[in-house]
Amino acid sequence: MANIETQAYPSTHCGIVRAAAVLLKLDNHPAADRYDAGTVETMVEEASAPDRMGDRLQGSGLHYYCSVTPEGVARTVRGYEGIFPNSLGDLAPSPLTMMTSEYITAVALERLGNRFAAAKCLARAAHMLADVCCPPHSAGLSYYSRYASNHKRYESDGETYFWTEKFGTTDPVTAAEQWAALCAGQAPYETYDNLLKGASDGDLFRKMSRFPDICREIALSGAGELPSVLSNDAELRRQSIDRRLILSIVHTAALFAAFDRDVRDLSVKVPQEQTPYRLYSYGAGKTLFREPLYVRFEEDGSIELLTQEGAYLAVTRFGSVRLTDQTAGMTTRFRFGFEPMMTLYPNGDIYRLLAVIGKRFCSVRRFLHKRSPHFSTQTGFRLDAAD
Ligand SMILES: [Zn+2]
Repeated sequence: MANIETQAYPSTHCGIVRAAAVLLKLDNHPAADRYDAGTVETMVEEASAPDRMGDRLQGSGLHYYCSVTPEGVARTVRGYEGIFPNSLGDLAPSPLTMMTSEYITAVALERLGNRFAAAKCLARAAHMLADVCCPPHSAGLSYYSRYASNHKRYESDGETYFWTEKFGTTDPVTAAEQWAALCAGQAPYETYDNLLKGASDGDLFRKMSRFPDICREIALSGAGELPSVLSNDAELRRQSIDRRLILSIVHTAALFAAFDRDVRDLSVKVPQEQTPYRLYSYGAGKTLFREPLYVRFEEDGSIELLTQEGAYLAVTRFGSVRLTDQTAGMTTRFRFGFEPMMTLYPNGDIYRLLAVIGKRFCSVRRFLHKRSPHFSTQTGFRLDAAD
């Protein structure tokens, strides 16, 4: 859902996050305590950030998870059954891949006690989930398609509906409480069971993460809303908006509940500090360095990868990736991506990723529209616990 700051109301992303936190309380969910006022404010502030120009998750066409074309024709990505493309036709980045990365990073940060950064990553994951719930985003009605005006109309109607029409209040807290009351008892908490079991494996999508299943189901139901989205009947659109806002809130609450559980359940494996890892490349078909690498999380949630002796994994000026010697003073901060296998974004830039091509380990610019599984394999990594 777009947030154009000049619009009359706050982004609905902010309202959805606020309502989801209240819903946990109304449902007497044990996770509710985690979302105290300060945490919620942090999350509300971050919830619309991915739509802002220059944000690390921002990108034209990337916030779409297209189960169908605007004409209602089913979409797929060859080689990835049940996974849908973004509006450029690419496997990644998409709301699915970005939600997965942000959620995993959020769990890792929270376990390290970095609550502020964790809350922000979780809010970003929630943003992507809400985008999947928004029918223009799951049916490819992008701002660059001839359906742009339908998209804009649906979302601006949605904002008016969320913030004033439905409950007649513009106060964000009261609106969130009213929406949450409407959603009480409806959150699909069980759908998020075992959300990340097996996620330490590189090929997250084909193993046991539940994110692909969850996003698939939501995006497919979004396709069913297409007639309402395209309709000039305002009442039809309002009914659709009502259904989808409720869907967003109940799923976001379930995501927040899952987060609380996954932070505590140490059998859920996410990258952690003080654990030696070996970096396995699917492209090279082998472990890349003899020395184990350690993950170090920075305050902002980016990571450094370094050896016990203090050599860093770094991208050189010419794009090659290597372990520096200790004295070089050269480091690169990465962020996790899942495309569908794990990759690393140098400086958090989703348009750049690490790849092993031939014998070269390098940082490459993403080839948009290049969606062959072969390319994914070249960029896929796995962090294996070293023994
Ligand atoms: Zn978005």
